[in-house]
Amino acid sequence: MDTIDLRSDTVTRPTPAMRAAMLDAEVGDDVYGEDPTVNAFQQRVAEELGFEAGLFVPTGTQSNLLALMSHCERGDEYLVGADAHTYKFEGGGAAVLGSIQPQPIPHDVDGSLPLDKLAAAIKPVDPHFARTRLLALENTWHGRVLPADYLRAAHDFARERGLGLHLDGARLFNAAIASGVKAGEIARYFDSVSVCFSKGLGAPVGSVLVGSTALIDKARRWRKVAGGGWRQAGLLAAAAQYALDHHVDRLAEDHARAAALAAGLGEIPGVKLLGQFTNMVFIDVPADRLRELDVHLRGAGVRISIGYLPTLRLVTHLDVDDEGVARTVAAFRSFFTR
Ligand SMILES: *Cc1c(COP(=O)(O)O)cnc(C)c1O
Repeated sequence: MDTIDLRSDTVTRPTPAMRAAMLDAEVGDDVYGEDPTVNAFQQRVAEELGFEAGLFVPTGTQSNLLALMSHCERGDEYLVGADAHTYKFEGGGAAVLGSIQPQPIPHDVDGSLPLDKLAAAIKPVDPHFARTRLLALENTWHGRVLPADYLRAAHDFARERGLGLHLDGARLFNAAIASGVKAGEIARYFDSVSVCFSKGLGAPVGSVLVGSTALIDKARRWRKVAGGGWRQAGLLAAAAQYALDHHVDRLAEDHARAAALAAGLGEIPGVKLLGQFTNMVFIDVPADRLRELDVHLRGAGVRISIGYLPTLRLVTHLDVDDEGVARTVAAFRSFFTR
């Protein structure tokens, strides 16, 4: 029995066709800038998103860190969501490695950061304060697509205040597919964007940071400093390239399956459906039955993450099909109705 793994969309394994593309990749030493597959891929992502340059890096965490360190200097500050990945789930890298002070801002329910709260958090130019230099947003945020009107307003706000604007677009393509627009329509409001290829797009490894040539030159230097200068990375770029060519439009299937999963789970007494956004479903279950539920689901070949109580997040992806959704709903039902 195949396991249906709903813990995250990072668990996908490369398909046979993706593996074939990796084996065929032409490679060179990327630290010398000589890997043709990497060069073509990062340039293509930059062009598709409307930027001058791109940099292929091992992880989304490193991509965001390089962006923050390229926008900001020691003693600068960035405004960021209190529940944003760069602030909360990246080991505090901006502060630890970049000497950049984060200024967390509480999110609205849709994931946006209210402009009045951002305005109030900008520090005066005075030696007492860190220098507020950058605003970082996240889209999708916990599966939610930031409203287009908000992106426009945040862009104008950042311009007026002289702030750079970075997007953690780990799931940018999910946002684009859900909105029915090209990813560049979302990316255009930003000075830099980080995109993950190792989430729902199904590549084994890799993110791309895009921005101006000057920004990406800085980021390339910081990548080397951070130990991210890699060599024949074209093997991995080929996988990400394959994902870009073949796995973007199909994200709609993940969203539809998440909706089906939410509808199925929502009918089960004992499961409280909190919401479904793009490829994520959020539910509450009685906390005292959680361990028992986890054991039951494992027995039925279903994996969930129970790490972030009290709410459970179930994530659909390339390796979850209709049968997997049906089996998951059936496993929850048999637990709560036995
Ligand atoms: C996964 C994720 C990242 C980081 O990606 P890694 O490759 O796991 O380092 C950054 N931001 C968001 C929103 C993510 O979901």
